Amino acid sequence: MMELNKLTAHELIEKLSREEITSDQIVSCLNKRINAIDSEVKAYARVEDGLTSWPVNQLASYNNNRQTGKPANRQTDLQGIPISIKDNICADGLNTECCSKILEGFKPPYDATVIKRLKEAGAIISPLKTNMDEFAFGSSTENSCFGSTRNPWNLECVPGGSSGGSAACVAADEAIWALGSDTGGSIRQPASFCGVVGLKPTYGRVSRYGLIAFASSLDQIGPITKDIRDSALLMNVIAGHDPNDSTSVNIDIPDYTKSLEMDIKGIKIALPKEYFPEGLDPEVKDIINEAINKLKSQGASFENVSLPHTEYAVEVYYIIATAEASSNLARFDGVQYGFRVQDARNKTRNLIEMYKKTRGEGFGEEAKRRIILGTFILSHGYYDAYYLRALKVRTLIKQDFDHVFKGFDCIVTPTSPTPAFKIGEKVEDPLKMYLSDIYTISANLSGIPAISIPCGFTKKGLPVGLQILAKPFNEEMLFRVAYAYEQSTEWHKMKPKL
Ligand code: GLN
Repeated sequence: MMELNKLTAHELIEKLSREEITSDQIVSCLNKRINAIDSEVKAYARVEDGLTSWPVNQLASYNNNRQTGKPANRQTDLQGIPISIKDNICADGLNTECCSKILEGFKPPYDATVIKRLKEAGAIISPLKTNMDEFAFGSSTENSCFGSTRNPWNLECVPGGSSGGSAACVAADEAIWALGSDTGGSIRQPASFCGVVGLKPTYGRVSRYGLIAFASSLDQIGPITKDIRDSALLMNVIAGHDPNDSTSVNIDIPDYTKSLEMDIKGIKIALPKEYFPEGLDPEVKDIINEAINKLKSQGASFENVSLPHTEYAVEVYYIIATAEASSNLARFDGVQYGFRVQDARNKTRNLIEMYKKTRGEGFGEEAKRRIILGTFILSHGYYDAYYLRALKVRTLIKQDFDHVFKGFDCIVTPTSPTPAFKIGEKVEDPLKMYLSDIYTISANLSGIPAISIPCGFTKKGLPVGLQILAKPFNEEMLFRVAYAYEQSTEWHKMKPKL
C-alpha cells in the first residue's frame, strides 16, 4: 500500500473524498512509521503506551461519514484526518503533562477549544502527544522529562523547541500535521530546524483555552504542517472567537485557503537591518538572499528598514515570560494535578513542606530557573525596576512594527540565526540557548502573526527557514507570500532519509 503517512492533509482529503482510501489505512501507515523510527527520533512523549489506543471505534464511521453543516464560508472538513498534538494542549482523557514530572499522569477531563474544533471538523486526535521542552521552556526539546527529540535530518542535532516533537514528527512523516504552541518562537524555530511550515497566529486569533499557560500574554497555538495549504486549512478550523478565552478576538475568520489564489505582484516587503547583522551565519544569509531574489522575480519589491528596539527583545522577553511563568506555575503544588511527593503524609511535616518537596522533585532545572527568576522580577522593589520597564520597552518594540507596516505589506527575515545545533551544545549555557530566539520573540511581544517556511539547506543538509511577519490579523498576507514562494520551489517536498 502507498505510504499515506507521507502525504499532506489536503492530499489525503482528496483521496478520502474519492473513496480511494480509508482513514484507518492512514492510521495504520502512521503506526507503522512510528514503530519503525520513533525510537530514534523520539518525537512522541509516551510512545510505549500509546500505539494501540487510537480511537479505532470511531474510525469505521469516519470513513463514510462526511461532514455536514460546516461553516458555509470556508473549508473546514477534516473528516478522518489524524493530527498530533503538543503535550501542553488539553485533550479529554489523554495524558497532558507538558513533558514535566510534576504533571505525571494528568489526564484533563475536558478538551481545549482547538481540540473541540478539530473533533467537530472530524479530525482524529492522535493518542500520542508530541514531545516538548518542559512547560515549553526551551529551544531544543532537551528539557523534557521524556528525553530529547532528535532532528530527523541529522539525529545528532536538536529539532529546535519547544515544539520540537511536533516539528520532528511532521518532518519524519510520523504525523500528517501537528499543533504546537509559540511563546517566543516555539513553533517557528523548530519548524525551520526541521524543514516544515510553522505558523504563530496573531495573539487572540486562536483560543488559548485548554493550553497549559506558560506566559499568557505571549502564548499562541498554531499549525505545524508539510506545506502552506495545510497550514491555511488548519487555521480555517482552529481560528476564531471563544468565550472561554477573554483575549480571543471576535472578528470574522476568512477562508485562509483563498489567500493561496493570489499572486504577489506589487507587494511591498521590508528587510529589517537588525535581522541581517555582520555576524549572521554566512550559509543562512546566502540562502535567505536567494529566497528574497525568488520573491523579487515574482513581482514583490524590497526595501531596507530599521526596527530600532530589536536589540532589547531578548531581555524584555525573558523578563516578561519568566514573570508570567512564575505566576502560572504556582498552581502546580501537588494538590490539584499530577505528581505529589511520595508518602507525603508520613514524610512531610506540614502542607508547606509537601508543596516544597513536590515542587522540588517535580520541576526540572530550567523550570526552576524560570520560576526563581520570575519570582524575583515580580518581588517588591524589583517590579518597577524590571517588569514595568520591560512592559514599556515591549510597547516600543511593537511601535517599531506599527511604523514599518504603515509602508509595507510584510517583513521578511531569517527564522533563526543558525541551522539546527548539536544535541548538548547549548545545555550548559542557558544564555546561549536564549539567543536562539532572537528573531522570533519580537512577533510574540508585538502580538503579530509570523510564519516560518522551508527555504533551503546548508551544505551539511540541514534545513533553513524563512520568516514572514505581517500586521495583526493579516495571516492571509503570510499565506499569500509563503504560497507564492512555495509554488516556485521544491524545498517542501524534500524528505529526510531515515
Ligand atoms: N525558546 C523560548 C523560551 O525558552 C521560547 C519558547 C516558546 O516559544 N515556548 O522561552
